[in-house]
Amino acid sequence: MNVGQEILLLLKEEITEIEYNRYIKQLIYDYKKSTSDMAVFYAPNALVSNWIKNKYTEKIAHLFEIKNNSKVSVKITLKNQIDKNTIQQKSEHKIQHSLLNPSHTFDNFMVGGSNQFAYAAVKSVSEKAGILYNPLFIHGGVGLGKTHLMQAAGNVFQNQGKIVIYTTVEQFLNDFIRHVRNKTMDRFQEKYRKCDVLLIDDIQFLSNKEGIQEEFFHTFEALKGQGKQIILTADKHPKKIGGLEKRLQSRFEHGLIADIQPPELETKIAIIEKKCELNKVKLTKDIINYIATVIESNVREIEGILSKLHAYSQLMHVDITIEFTKNVLKDQLRENRANLTLDIITQNVAKDLNIKPSEIRSKGRSKNLVYARRIAIYLCRELTQNTMPQLAQYFGMKDHTAISHTLKKINELIENDEDFKVKIEELTNKITSSS
Ligand code: ADP
Ligand code: MG
Repeated sequence: MNVGQEILLLLKEEITEIEYNRYIKQLIYDYKKSTSDMAVFYAPNALVSNWIKNKYTEKIAHLFEIKNNSKVSVKITLKNQIDKNTIQQKSEHKIQHSLLNPSHTFDNFMVGGSNQFAYAAVKSVSEKAGILYNPLFIHGGVGLGKTHLMQAAGNVFQNQGKIVIYTTVEQFLNDFIRHVRNKTMDRFQEKYRKCDVLLIDDIQFLSNKEGIQEEFFHTFEALKGQGKQIILTADKHPKKIGGLEKRLQSRFEHGLIADIQPPELETKIAIIEKKCELNKVKLTKDIINYIATVIESNVREIEGILSKLHAYSQLMHVDITIEFTKNVLKDQLRENRANLTLDIITQNVAKDLNIKPSEIRSKGRSKNLVYARRIAIYLCRELTQNTMPQLAQYFGMKDHTAISHTLKKINELIENDEDFKVKIEELTNKITSSS
């Protein structure tokens, strides 16, 4: 076995079997072209090559580094042109235009209150394409699992042999422009109108782009007319996207609209456990809880953190302890919190407890105002660098002793009341992720 094969087998240990089989297994190590500081691999086609370049070169380079004790750059190239064309034709026939992440499955998607409606909607669409809800429109903030869910349905359809096109608005637009330029619009239309399932990600980017909206409208009508399933995602509800033709907006609202909210603590914990399992990272319960409370609601960060932890611990030959985790996450935390102001925190607390920010800063003594004020003061103290006198001034309190009294009360509550503790953790997450 050559060193390249060895490295790919090591990589196999770190990724899911399906990703290995679909992508990594197709790489061929070129030991003739490789040198001590450069490893060359061949990929059978551009799709596989791009996928590996984006997702795995760093990991592969890292494994070489561990093995050789020196830095190695990794080059993924295509085999010579003739080879490439024949192989590409074959595999393109099989996987069509889409490049779905094979790990984005329903099994790998953790369901909680925040996403169960969207999950159920996508799941049922995947069981009855084109019949139930068409289009299905999923919206929600960054990193909450929209692409994952949409591709989970895509993977189901693809496994049934259906032609699935997954594309972002940007790719769709580029494709459109290319075909206009080459005067091959008929091919463009054929491609998009002949698929069984069309998945378009981040549809908000259609906003104010009239030409492509027009083309998309006709694609949409053609597919819908043939009972082909369409799934769309966006960062907001179609009504709020703006710069959309009325007829498109109304089409979007015709099917089913499902939103995804930021995950609750328990869902986040389940997601981290799942990602650990998939990425073969071993973490204790304490560390998982810690990461879940510390990171933003943006789930995308979880994977970054896990691979950081994994890489550091391998390079430095240490176990992943909670202290170690805290150190690794320090920069991340600092970044998330740097922009927080007293106003932002107060507004968030007010919104969460359904009162006005001005009421929090007023002298009102009703029970719920005092409760909200205490929480706001506590979070301002935790999340910003403000001193107690500064906080006293901001919240209209007599002096710093009033603040320290409040902090003591809240700390007691956190220690004695598990529900309250969770509530504070959730609020902290919400606030740090909104900045
Ligand atoms: P979005 O498209 O909404 O910005 P993604 O679908 O790209 O977000 O999700 C970001 C990352 O978080 C992906 O790695 C995805 O697998 C993961 N993720 C998000 N929600 C979940 C969930 N409920 N269960 C498992 N993984 C999740
Ligand atoms: Mg996405």
